[in-house]
Amino acid sequence: MASYIVLGLASLHGVRAWGVLGHATVAYVAQNFVTAEVATWAKGVLGDTSTSYLANIASWADTYRATTAGAWSAPLHFIDAEDNPPTTCNVNYARDCGATGCVVSALANYTQRVGDGRLSAANTAEALRFLVHFVGDITQPLHDEAYELGANGVTVHFNGFTDNLHSDWDTYMPEQLIGGDTLADALSWATTLTADINTGAYKSLKAGWIAGDTPTDTVTTATRWASDANALVCTVVMPNGAAALTAMTDLYPTYYDGVIGTIELQIAKGGYRLANWLNLIYTSEVVRRELVDAVEKRGDSRALVPLERSVVPESELDGHKFLPAPRELSKAKLARAAVGYGCNHQH
Ligand SMILES: [Zn+2]
Repeated sequence: MASYIVLGLASLHGVRAWGVLGHATVAYVAQNFVTAEVATWAKGVLGDTSTSYLANIASWADTYRATTAGAWSAPLHFIDAEDNPPTTCNVNYARDCGATGCVVSALANYTQRVGDGRLSAANTAEALRFLVHFVGDITQPLHDEAYELGANGVTVHFNGFTDNLHSDWDTYMPEQLIGGDTLADALSWATTLTADINTGAYKSLKAGWIAGDTPTDTVTTATRWASDANALVCTVVMPNGAAALTAMTDLYPTYYDGVIGTIELQIAKGGYRLANWLNLIYTSEVVRRELVDAVEKRGDSRALVPLERSVVPESELDGHKFLPAPRELSKAKLARAAVGYGCNHQH
């Protein structure tokens, strides 16, 4: 009981994100929807062939963020929407993503990194660990909200404890639902959510969760994810304002009963999105490299713009810097390569 209280008080914005349970569940859901090729690729990148290859690393970013070496990554776990809940909710990337980065810019950075052939195996694995975590974070509504540091400053009572609204959403309400925070608990929850996605309440919703997702425009995609979750701050998290929640004797059971369905929805959504995102990254990288190979094989010097995979200085290779863009084939050249591929006609 004592450690429960200490954990609650120690929760700082961005430290816990979804708790261990939530992140592992997002990862297990994703494992159920990645293609066989992507699963093999991810296992290789992570050096983990177990049946928990994504779940095992889903909270690594929270552990890393708490170290001295990883302190730079703290702002990457959220985007502080400067809106005005519950009256108005909105996310504006230019307004809300600070100079030190945010979850949207981090997703853009690690999406590029995980598919960038110039990085070391260690840096590629780091990029994948960050991606798995941040796709989870961005679906937690209070990670897309500046108000009281994502409601870390909103004192509430839950199940007899005094804590804050952020930690209840991250950790204590999910654990209330599932009854624990082990990987086995997460796997069990993910199995239920996967069935809901395949044949249950989420079947008709899942297409909308990923509509328009585009790895080559991650900022637009991730801002849409953030906006989707941020809207819930006004409609579900604090529809009558934070003071109304602070005034409640206990959030359990009335408030909990009203929001737990949204928490389940967001965890399922995060997992399904993560799987689709990894599938899209993998596919686009494979297609891009096949086109490059095709151009190189044709030996057409006018079309030949090889990727330079070893020109990035070592100092650029750690995770918090954006990579310089690789020398990409232009769209026109990609189109020419695609037309030329498998065709004998040469200009
Ligand atoms: Zn986090």
